[in-house]
Amino acid sequence: MAYADAIQEQREQRRRQRFATKSMHMTQKYLHRMRDLGGTLEQMEPFFNALERIYVQGLDVERPRSTKTVGTYCVQVPQELIYAAGARPVKLCSGHYTAFSIGDDVVARDACPLVKAIAGFEHMGTLPLYENCSLMVVPITCDCKKRIAGLIKEKWPVHPLYVPANREDEDIEHYLDDLYQLMHMVSHVTGQDVTYESLANALNLTGYAQYELSRFLRIKRTTPNLLYGTHAMAVMNASSYLDAGVWASAMGALNDELERRARANELVSRKDLPRIMLTGSPIVFPNLKIPLLIEEAGGMVVADETCMGERGMSDPVVPVDASFDGLMRSLAIRSLRPCPCPTFADNSQRIYRLRQMVRDYHVEGVIYHVLRGCLVYDYEFRLVEEELESMGIPVIRLESDYTDQDVEQLRIRSEAFVETIKLKKGPLKANRG
Ligand code: SF4
Ligand code: SF4
Repeated sequence: MAYADAIQEQREQRRRQRFATKSMHMTQKYLHRMRDLGGTLEQMEPFFNALERIYVQGLDVERPRSTKTVGTYCVQVPQELIYAAGARPVKLCSGHYTAFSIGDDVVARDACPLVKAIAGFEHMGTLPLYENCSLMVVPITCDCKKRIAGLIKEKWPVHPLYVPANREDEDIEHYLDDLYQLMHMVSHVTGQDVTYESLANALNLTGYAQYELSRFLRIKRTTPNLLYGTHAMAVMNASSYLDAGVWASAMGALNDELERRARANELVSRKDLPRIMLTGSPIVFPNLKIPLLIEEAGGMVVADETCMGERGMSDPVVPVDASFDGLMRSLAIRSLRPCPCPTFADNSQRIYRLRQMVRDYHVEGVIYHVLRGCLVYDYEFRLVEEELESMGIPVIRLESDYTDQDVEQLRIRSEAFVETIKLKKGPLKANRG
């Protein structure tokens, strides 16, 4: 290697090292803030450890050495298909500020920060979670997501997954065709065919996770204030980096403890704090500043309608018939029909789900989160605002970016919103249980 090249290489190495160190510190800061809220339980540690493993220790997901990982970028990529081919799905949507600051110089100025953070990790090449993927499945949904496929195709094999804008029968057929192609592609990567048995096993595996999730949601609905919403969101985010069975088993232990605490009336806060629902653009770890600010301001995030939260896993697969095609078809239907993502043309479903969640969780105010540049969610705001106001539920739009610079402004607005709800409710009683 020529001297100049060697110097350049050393410089690049130092730059990558600085990036890795800064990324680690940013993650640690959010893990600390999460713990400083109080109310963390021993049973949450497996989830926090999974987040720490990836972003602080810089390790890949835990798995047998021979198991390949497949990166996905949306809840509309059915994980079951990847498990059925013998691989591990990992969700790569990113909430990392340090990666965002690199991606900001790499992709279009007005792209959303989530995509910029993905670009930052791709560019720096320091995170094993990304680097070790054998295949990337990119959904063709919003414009920003579409661009990822072009951005990363030099580095990894990419399957751009067709996602229709409508959900009529013919749209489902097109999507199903693409799922079959994806199945062949993952099988090619792993060398394992997807069989009836492996697909059924994968459905059972994710069904186990969905069962524990439904328990978790029921406990949260029936006994409020058993845990902070920020912690619930971190637990949900950790599902991106844990095997579905491992996540479900840890969830089972957490649910058992929450049920015990519900019986003993052991709550993490007084019962009458303002009950807030979060919806809008994805909230991806470590970017938990919005739920943290709400809960640091004295509100409770009781419900989370974002695609890294409850939405990501809550809809079960209901087999249309017992054939192989029947299982594939049910995966396609589950991935599209109930999904309240606003990238679909008809969003009446989304409104219906939001109304239902407001009622189920006795929500008193909604924070509509918009990541800067995320037009799909921004467009929806007016419609959601009108619907919620017709129910007498106050709503505010909070726009944020992947930086700490907007924290103080967001804090002022979150505090003012929480105070408004408190005033509407009247004096809070000083009870903890
Ligand atoms: S917001 Fe929609 S397109 Fe984006 S990850 Fe979520 S479900 Fe997928
Ligand atoms: S839905 Fe919004 S946040 Fe997600 S990739 Fe598209 S523009 Fe970005």
